[in-house]
Amino acid sequence: MVSNKKALEMVDVIAEMFPNAECELVHDNAFELTIAVLLSAQTTDISVNKLTKPLFEKYKTPEDYLSVDISELENDIRTIGLYRNKAKNIQKLSQSLLDKFDGKIPRTHNELESLAGVGRKTANVVMSVAFGEPSLAVDTHVERISKRLGICRWKDNVRQVEDKLCKVVPRERWNKTHHQLIFFGRYHCLARKPKCDVCPLFEECREGQKRYKASLKEA
Ligand code: SF4
Repeated sequence: MVSNKKALEMVDVIAEMFPNAECELVHDNAFELTIAVLLSAQTTDISVNKLTKPLFEKYKTPEDYLSVDISELENDIRTIGLYRNKAKNIQKLSQSLLDKFDGKIPRTHNELESLAGVGRKTANVVMSVAFGEPSLAVDTHVERISKRLGICRWKDNVRQVEDKLCKVVPRERWNKTHHQLIFFGRYHCLARKPKCDVCPLFEECREGQKRYKASLKEA
C-alpha cells in the first residue's frame, strides 16, 4: 500500500484529469436522484438516463409510484437489469416515505439507509449530490481504482475503502473526489482495458506495472 501522502498525490493527479467531474444521473430533485441511483445498480448511468426521461414524466411523487400495479411499474423499467426487484423496492421506498417522512427524502444517513433498496453507497450519493453533505460514496469504479493504485488493500471491503479514502482526502473535497474517481474509472482506468500506456500514474501504479511486466513476458 502507498502512504497517505502518496495516495493524496494520486488523487490530486486524478483531480487534474477530471476537474469538472459531476453526477451524470439526470434528476431534478432528491426524490428523482434517489430513484435514479436505486435504478443504477449493476447498470450504466446512460441506460438509467434513457429510462428515467419518460419515467420521471409519468411518476413525479411517491403516490404516483404506488398508484399503479407492480406489473405496470415493472414494465416501465424493464429495459434495465434486476427490474423486478427494483420495481418492488421503489414501491416499498415510496410507501416508507409516505408513512414515515411526510413523502420527502430524509436527510440523514440512517434514515436513508432504512429505505428499501438504499444501501450505504446510495445514501452517500444522495447526501452528497442532493444535500451537499460531505460524503465519499464507493462504487465499483472507486473500489477498483483505489485497489489498483494501492491506496487500499485488495482484500478491503467497500466500507474499509471508504474509510481509507476519507482519511486520505480532506473532508471539503470528498464530494468532488467521489465524482473524479468515478470519471477516472469510467473513462480512463476501465475495468477490462485500463489506459495504462497513457496514464500519468503508470510509474507508481502497482496494477499498471504488473500488466506491463506481463505484456513483456508475452512479447
Ligand atoms: S496505470 Fe493502468 S491500472 Fe494503473 S491507474 Fe493507470 S490506467 Fe489504471
